[in-house]
Amino acid sequence: MARVGFIGLGIMGYPMAGYLAGKGGHDVTVYNRTAKKAKKWVEQHGGSVAATPKEAAIDADYVFACVGNDDDLRSVTLGDVGAFQSMKPGAIFIDNTTASAEIARELETEASNAGFGFLDAPVSGGQAGAENGVLTVMVGGDEDVFARAKPLIECYARMVGLMGPCGSGQLTKMMNQICIAGLVQGLSEAIQFGRNANMDIEKVIDVISKGAAGSWQMENRYKTMNDQFYEHGFAVDWMRKDLAICLAEANKNGSTLPVTALVDQFYADVQKMGGNRWDTSSLLARLEK
Ligand code: NAP
Repeated sequence: MARVGFIGLGIMGYPMAGYLAGKGGHDVTVYNRTAKKAKKWVEQHGGSVAATPKEAAIDADYVFACVGNDDDLRSVTLGDVGAFQSMKPGAIFIDNTTASAEIARELETEASNAGFGFLDAPVSGGQAGAENGVLTVMVGGDEDVFARAKPLIECYARMVGLMGPCGSGQLTKMMNQICIAGLVQGLSEAIQFGRNANMDIEKVIDVISKGAAGSWQMENRYKTMNDQFYEHGFAVDWMRKDLAICLAEANKNGSTLPVTALVDQFYADVQKMGGNRWDTSSLLARLEK
């Protein structure tokens, strides 16, 4: 049993911290900016509540974070009451936020100067993956630090991979999001096309999902897209945050991402339609407006 701190009990963090306590049997101290979520978590899972990230990290062997973006991450780590103010030497900080590779490298340098480990470990699999403890976790960092943290990450994951040095987890997540952007637009266009051609969408998907067009998005989203239901899943606002990270990184490494840039603008249209919290499959709503 390890002493664990967990910062950020959002849609993803709340169940992930739950698996560390329940499945892992670890002694978990949670911090959440909105305190009532932390109180609810402790009522459900035991453990204790910390008033600040700094307090959550005191004496912890492992500290996890799952917050929104680079700025949020900077605040819960390097801020006045950030976790890095109290991480003990030899401990490991595991960041599950989807953030830039740049901040991962910056935080690893800070961590290594202070004598503790850092891993960037963004996740994929959505709310359902977090709630069922079957996330895919893409990790960047040192091999020995990874080896020590892996058994804990496995509490909430089905697949955990060390992708390379620090920042590689975030770069892997960027590739993941680049793949998804074009794919969801393609699926949206096909469904709109099928409806206009008076095809039975269910029947078509049943057949083509078994062939070369099949994908997670097709399997898991075609029904809700066909029902025009978007009040669930991975929010458009989060996707735009992720695509901005991808486009900035592409600018730096000399890649051209024309489809990703275009789909990013399509998501801006969805935001204008009021779809900030809609699932990313709402690209279809934009085509049908
Ligand atoms: P969420 O439900 O909005 O939760 C965000 C969490 O971060 C909340 O606990 C929030 O606290 C906390 N937070 C945000 N800014 C903070 C700050 N400045 N200081 C302290 N705490 C702060 O988001 P989520 O869906 O769990 O996503 C978390 C991360 O996982 C994001 O980077 C997202 O891109 C990534 N992700 C999400 C999904 C998904 O399907 N949702 C899938 C893969 C990856 P409050 O409760 O006080 O707001």
